[in-house]
Amino acid sequence: MQGIKFGGFTINAIQTGKFKLDGGAMFGVVPKTLWSRKIEADELNRIPMGMRSLVIHSEATDRIYLIDTGIGTKFDEKFEKIYGVDFSEGTLESGLNNLGLDRGDVTDIVFTHLHFDHCGGTSSLNKNSGESEIIFPNSNFWVTKSHWKTATNPNQREKASFLRENIQPIAQHPKLCLNDDNYTFEDNFETIVVNGHSLGQQLPVLKDGDRRLVFAADLFPTFAHIPVPWVMGYDMYPITTMQERERLLSQAVDEQWNFFLEHDAHHEIIRVGREGKNYSTTEFLTLDRI
Ligand SMILES: [Zn+2]
Repeated sequence: MQGIKFGGFTINAIQTGKFKLDGGAMFGVVPKTLWSRKIEADELNRIPMGMRSLVIHSEATDRIYLIDTGIGTKFDEKFEKIYGVDFSEGTLESGLNNLGLDRGDVTDIVFTHLHFDHCGGTSSLNKNSGESEIIFPNSNFWVTKSHWKTATNPNQREKASFLRENIQPIAQHPKLCLNDDNYTFEDNFETIVVNGHSLGQQLPVLKDGDRRLVFAADLFPTFAHIPVPWVMGYDMYPITTMQERERLLSQAVDEQWNFFLEHDAHHEIIRVGREGKNYSTTEFLTLDRI
């Protein structure tokens, strides 16, 4: 596989599709007059979002990891319209094919968490039976134990983010692997668990000497979410998110982490800086320039 070399891995980003979410919900208590200067809303007050997955080939183990699978295709016209789903820049399938891969080549899918825009592409509807079926038959599916508990028994507030047609086939998959928090997949590939957005969300971290590539998932969905209080309305435990951000941002500044942004419509990688007590994005990069 062609791609960027990083710590014994070859890595590639795939844009699995774009969609839109309500700007107010994305920025919680932050007034629109502030957030709309960073990301402009459309006429329905929605902001554009990406759904980037990361494909990681390990030279040491020959495993092919896929981080998250995007929104998938199991939805009707109404859903497509509400969320402005747009595959004009590609899909998970076309992204894998461009790397010379098929779905069957993926050995391990690591889910940050199981909200519908992170795991929908794991399954598709069978044309004959109409049933939702796994389309990565050879792959292990990794989810933290704590997230699995919440995804299969969600509270009323989070329920709408876990879709039955996504969760059920994953639950029945023989290679579902429930991992501990802060898990090590192999040398130079670990995860950091954060609980503010959803219990047991895991952020994959690749190491290359002193360098870090951190998959920011829904802790920092876009570059505009770096300021600690700019927390999404979707987060289950916003105070926890703020504490987790403080902790990780101070390390990120000191160690010049590269944050891989899953949801930012335009920016793949950012670095962050601190001025006084405030954190913000200081550099916009792409995977080939880290
Ligand atoms: Zn989420």
